[in-house]
Amino acid sequence: MKCIRIGFIGTGFQGRDLIRRLAEKESYVKVTAVSDINRESAQETADLYGLKVYATGQELIASQEVDAVAVTSWGETHEEYVLQAIAHNKPVFCEKPLATTREGCMKIVKAELDAGKKYVQVGFMRRFDRRYQDLKKVLDSKEAGNILLMHCAHRNKEVGATYTSDMVVTDMMVHEIDIVRWLTGKEIMAVQILKPKSSIHANQNTNFPLYGIFELEDGTIVDVEANAAAYFGYEVTCEVVGENAVVSLPQMNPVTVKAKNKKEEFLPSLWTERFDQAYEDEILAWAESLKKGKADGPDSFDGYMAAVCTDACLQSLHEGGRILTDKMERPNLFIK
Ligand code: NAP
Repeated sequence: MKCIRIGFIGTGFQGRDLIRRLAEKESYVKVTAVSDINRESAQETADLYGLKVYATGQELIASQEVDAVAVTSWGETHEEYVLQAIAHNKPVFCEKPLATTREGCMKIVKAELDAGKKYVQVGFMRRFDRRYQDLKKVLDSKEAGNILLMHCAHRNKEVGATYTSDMVVTDMMVHEIDIVRWLTGKEIMAVQILKPKSSIHANQNTNFPLYGIFELEDGTIVDVEANAAAYFGYEVTCEVVGENAVVSLPQMNPVTVKAKNKKEEFLPSLWTERFDQAYEDEILAWAESLKKGKADGPDSFDGYMAAVCTDACLQSLHEGGRILTDKMERPNLFIK
């Protein structure tokens, strides 16, 4: 079988991590090209893996030596690159966000509808986390009965000084938005963001943590604590209250130390440790989809819904109150 050649646009933290994961596997897909606005970063990555550097993302996408594209540059640049990849009939993996506006996401959904084909996998890696997959299996088995409530927490140990309350929504809560939709198969109809008093570890003029309440279309209520300055370590929790049972997301098995009069468990300090396996399986699943010629991971409608819900959360954060998510119906192409 002819090798499928992948070009990465964006060779920062995320791009390099995913390139490494693909490069370490003997496979029918091969990363062969990179581009980054930061030419030095692109060249460093190219030197590590023997790749060709393109001066611009546009040239990389148009190249006849590139069969599929991965977009791991900054969020604001995703929309243009993804639309170009679709116009060139090339499958595309796009890190979240799919686009920074719902209108931008809608353009991508429409481009796929016009082509009559799905091209895009969005980087919602939690769907590939085996613990979330185990939780979903139990929920799908109906052993717990109908879901009534979900309690979610997303706790980052610490963040940089420029991290804002908006980023708690767009970078942290967005993962809960996606995973709740995936776990339940239900859409989020309304959201409200509350601002508890801010932690002493919060950045200036920010609210860490934020507390979100999501109402799903079947009446399930989900609460989400998103804390960018949890201080103790990195942790993601999810407890699902069903009619017949309470089901919890398994945690990592931390190393436990029993010493004199104490017992200590070592938690991950970063999301990269917690979701290492998920990032690996996510990008390998995309590689597999290239072989099958059919994208079946999180798609551009999921990217669009994430944008609709984060917009509503941001509106609630700034203006207060309960905000309805005003959205398009899921087109047939995106029914799984
Ligand atoms: P990063 O380390 O800053 O890397 C981004 C790279 O893109 C930088 O080298 C940047 O260059 C380059 N870039 C900026 N504008 C560009 C353009 N127009 N064309 C080509 N390259 C451009 O950021 P990151 O942490 O890797 O994040 C990249 C994306 O991944 C973001 O969308 C982020 O939200 C996402 N992400 C997702 C997860 C997840 O859990 N799914 C985790 C981390 C990141 P300069 O430095 O010169 O600007």
